[in-house]
Amino acid sequence: MNDLYDRHRAVLPDWLALYYDSPLEITHGEGRHVWDSEGRRYLDFFGGILTTMTAHALPEVTKAVSEQAGRIIHSSTLYLNRPMVELAERIAQLSGIPDARVFFTTSGTEANDTALLLATTHRRSNTILAMRNSYHGRSFSAIGITGNRSWSPSSLSPLQTLYVHGGVRTRGPFAHLSDAEFIAACVEDLRDLLGHTRPPAALIAEPIQGVGGFTSPPDGLYAAFRDVLNEHGILWIADEVQTGWGRTGEHFWGWQAHGENGPPDIVTFAKGIGNGMSIGGVVARAEIMNCLDANSISTFGGTQITMAAGLANLNHLIEHDLQGNARRVGGLLIERLRAVAAQLPGVREVRGRGLMIGVELARPGTDEADPRAAAAVLEAAREGGLLIGKGGGHSTSALRIAPPLSLTVAEAEEGAAILERALHSAY
Ligand code: PLP
Repeated sequence: MNDLYDRHRAVLPDWLALYYDSPLEITHGEGRHVWDSEGRRYLDFFGGILTTMTAHALPEVTKAVSEQAGRIIHSSTLYLNRPMVELAERIAQLSGIPDARVFFTTSGTEANDTALLLATTHRRSNTILAMRNSYHGRSFSAIGITGNRSWSPSSLSPLQTLYVHGGVRTRGPFAHLSDAEFIAACVEDLRDLLGHTRPPAALIAEPIQGVGGFTSPPDGLYAAFRDVLNEHGILWIADEVQTGWGRTGEHFWGWQAHGENGPPDIVTFAKGIGNGMSIGGVVARAEIMNCLDANSISTFGGTQITMAAGLANLNHLIEHDLQGNARRVGGLLIERLRAVAAQLPGVREVRGRGLMIGVELARPGTDEADPRAAAAVLEAAREGGLLIGKGGGHSTSALRIAPPLSLTVAEAEEGAAILERALHSAY
């Protein structure tokens, strides 16, 4: 253990999660690589924590941030702020939500908190539908509705939360069903649940569960839910904190895989939009966004320096079609990892889309989760020069791969080869 680790442990709480037996101190990054304090270079297959959306040290973002810092960093959102208005215009337009309004926060947690506040106020109900195995952040209300219990063992939610089946396709009572049957069973379960409760304000769901190990339902589940929600006047909140901005390759937003019945009422976002700068936010129809009668700002939400970074990052993402790159390179990577998995009985599934790829490990020959193997693979990959993530709470047997969307084919090949060696060493 190094000196910084001891100092870290002395001043920060024990529940702060760290990867690795001997955690890395990251000092700098460029493109898809980061370096540690001993000068070792790593291919970053976790993009920070899905935060480095385009690339580390992207010149356009660095320039926008330093130019903005030279003018003004923050003047409070009580005044007009050009980068904030311009980024809000872009996001409103990209959201697919009619008559959209945008409110900026500084994290995904706060974005979800705001969405819950809006939904409960608008619908005059403090009951929320959430998905089993979900994760929505660590504030009192966001962790309180989070479905992944072992992630939030001691929270007492201020909201009444009812948990719905469907966020995970591969586990639970409906796992053996075909896609169409799975959707029908989840819809029936939702209808049944609604028959036993006062009308909830909203359903909140990650289109692909992030902390839950990059698991997702069949396409169309949330469109089918939408019909039921509409019958009861229940809002649909899509938590796009991990799935937004083209990460899933096929779609700009994760909800678009479920979009036949129109966009969600509320979309929350964070992580990748700032390429590491703290931007979160909510997009919703004006009638929902304007339902609060409190006149309120977020002190640091929408501040000039983060908005300048977000604009430069979003422009780069779209001009260079990084969504298309995620589809192409992610597709190759999934194919390559499935070929590796076919030779290893401990790899139960390689799943995902675009550059959001989950590798589920199980004790060879069984369906039993294998978190120890996942931890060993993480260590071995790090030794080989590759950083990946793993799921949290109940999903620690899932490896998570989410590199910056500019990943090249050569880097995908290199990372897959390191991961293949790491998987072999763990089994
Ligand atoms: N929602 C989802 C889907 C997340 O994955 C996370 C964080 O991992 C959050 C919300 C919370 O975001 P933050 O950590 O920025 O508060």
